[in-house]
Amino acid sequence: MTDKPRTGGCQCGAVRFRIHGELGHPSICHCRMCQKQFGSLFGAFVTAPKDGVEWVREEPAYFQSSVNIARGFCPRCGTPMTYKHPEGLEISIGSFDDRSDLAPKVQINHAARLPWIEAIFETSAHENPDYYRRQEQIISFQHPGEETANWPEHGLKL
Ligand SMILES: [Zn+2]
Repeated sequence: MTDKPRTGGCQCGAVRFRIHGELGHPSICHCRMCQKQFGSLFGAFVTAPKDGVEWVREEPAYFQSSVNIARGFCPRCGTPMTYKHPEGLEISIGSFDDRSDLAPKVQINHAARLPWIEAIFETSAHENPDYYRRQEQIISFQHPGEETANWPEHGLKL
């Protein structure tokens, strides 16, 4: 991980990052604030190395969610990006270009989890071939996710 910095960014590509150094523990958090920040069932973060985050284009905007905590997001597309606390910075796992080795190792605020959270992966998989055929034809305006010099190429205003 020391040769090539890990990269990631928001959905629109306005906020991109490079990580220099080793990442800490990946985790999920069930607290109500993480649910709200992500608009989802839990938050998922990995600890960034101290002073090891380089913002490439723009930096996240912040919402001060409590006395010591601020939560970062892309000011243009809203992607949840960071959790800033007095000891450091966490980065949202979903914003990394390569997330394959970032399996969460611990569940924070486990007591606050949704009562049905363990059951969600027992639900049936959506298996309509027409849906997936249409999905393949989507014209995406999402940043492609790797380091791209000429982004945006389709006229999106950043
Ligand atoms: Zn964005």
